[in-house]
Order: sequence, then C-alpha cells, then structure tokens
Amino acid sequence: MRLRLLTFALFFALCPLPFALVEAQSSPTSLHDAFDAAQCYAYTAQIAGFGERMPGSAGYKKTQDLVEQVLKRTGATIDRDEFTASTPRGPIAVRNIIGKYHVTSDPNQRIVILAGHYDTLFKPGFIGANDGASSTAILLSFADALAKQKTANQVWLVWTDLEEAINEFQGDDGLVGSRHLAQKLAAAGLVPRVRGLFLLDMIGDKDLGVARETISTRWLQDFVSQAAQRLGYTQSFFQYEVAIIDDHKSFLDVGIPSVDVVDARYGRMGPTFDGMGEFHHANTDTMDKVSKASLEIVGRTILLTVELLDR
Ligand SMILES: [Zn+2]
Repeated sequence: MRLRLLTFALFFALCPLPFALVEAQSSPTSLHDAFDAAQCYAYTAQIAGFGERMPGSAGYKKTQDLVEQVLKRTGATIDRDEFTASTPRGPIAVRNIIGKYHVTSDPNQRIVILAGHYDTLFKPGFIGANDGASSTAILLSFADALAKQKTANQVWLVWTDLEEAINEFQGDDGLVGSRHLAQKLAAAGLVPRVRGLFLLDMIGDKDLGVARETISTRWLQDFVSQAAQRLGYTQSFFQYEVAIIDDHKSFLDVGIPSVDVVDARYGRMGPTFDGMGEFHHANTDTMDKVSKASLEIVGRTILLTVELLDR
C-alpha cells in the first residue's frame, strides 16, 4: 500500500501540470471513492458546534435545516415523517427526515437504507460530537457521494429523531422516531423491497472499533465484512461482540434485514465508566475524540457495501 502511494505521488510530481489538473478534476470511478472524509469531518464539527441538539432546541432546528439544505443541493426526493410523541416529558414533536436517491419508475426497484439519529441526549452541556454529530454528518457525506455516482437500487438516507431515551431505554422510551417510521414502511407494504438497512451510530471515535452487534442480521453484516476486507480495514471491524438496543431494532421488528454499525467502546472501559465507555453520554464527547480517519474507514466501507448489494 505504501509503495503504491509513493508511485502515485511520484506520478503527480513528475507529470506536466495541465495533465495533473485534468486528473484531479475527473469524477470518482466508484461510490466509495466519492466519499469525502475531510468534508465529513467538517460537517461533524459544524453540527457539534450547534451545541445541544435535543428535540425542540435551537441546535436541533439548525441540524434539521442543514440536513434539508444538503438534500436539496444534492437533488434528493425529500420526505418527512412527522408526528407528536407522548413522552415522560409530555408531548414532543418528532421529525424523521428521509432523502431518496436514484428512484426509477420500476415499482419493484429494491431499496437500501442508510440511517442514523440526529437528536442528542436530554442532558445540559452534552454536545455529542460522536453520539449524534458523527452519524448525522456521515449521512450528509453519503448524500454528496450519491449525487456523483448512480446506483441500481434506490438509496434512502434516513435521519431518525428521538433515538435517545428521555429517562432510560425501557418500554416505549427511546427509539421513538425509528419505531414510527418502521411501522409506516410496514403499513405501506415496503418491507419486502428493502434489501437491507445499515444504522450508523458513534462511528467517528478516534480509536475506532466497530462491534459485531449480535441482534443485527448476520448475512447482511457479512457484506460489511467483505467490503472492509477489500479495503484493508478488517482491524476496525467486528473484533468483539455485543448486543445493543439501537434504532436498527425498530426495523428488525418489522422484518427489515438490519445491521447496527456502532463503535460500542468509547474511551476507557471498566466498572467505574458507562457500559459503552468513559465518553459515552458524557459531556466529554467532544470533537477532540473524533477523527477524519475513522469517518473515512466507515464511510468508504459502507458505500462499498452499498455497491456490493447493487449487483
Ligand atoms: Zn446516545
């Protein structure tokens, strides 16, 4: 790998300028090569910079506006799934945002869904650079890539709302937006057309280690393994197993094959820390814990997975 990079650098150093410019401007040859990690990191920083993003907050509204701006700019068909949830905090307005790409007139066209939550925990001072901002941002970068590269399947980007529990993940608390949307898809008879759903959560961690989440659909997870292997990223995926209640559960419950792409070890682990690490749901979940390299590994792997499912 190092040798190939060196050859590439030499080629650009030696070739005449006009040719180098043409090369630099040519469009990517695949969906995963269209992933822009620097832009993804910039989106993450921008969203974390909005501050607390619990439903109804100023940061939450700014996030919604950014998502809808990017969807418009990239030519998506935009859908909103809006409702009022009754919660332990009283009624809360919930909005899942959906952007659809490469929709054809074929009524049987298969659908691939890439999802992630954009709300943050109801906790003063919590800005969720990794838990909330990274998942929101990676979907924005997927929008940019999808605007450049066509797929045979429809690809839906879904920003789920009110994933975080108001009190704790018990009964109907938590996964509120995803549960509503999953039931809506089931009622519309769309479940058989969904090839697979990938839920991205906490994937910006500098010390990246995506869990083999055990309630996820195993055969669909194997596509992610295959993509990671092809890109030389196997060390970052599936080195430990854990079961996690996350938005993918809502979609599994209606019969949609789903995988939670989640790094479940955030910072030091141990009995004195949260079960998902010292920075999980802590006000120390800030941009210094996030890296461009991690966003790149996950972004390219998931987009290559989308390509593998396109065949
Ligand atoms: Zn969380």
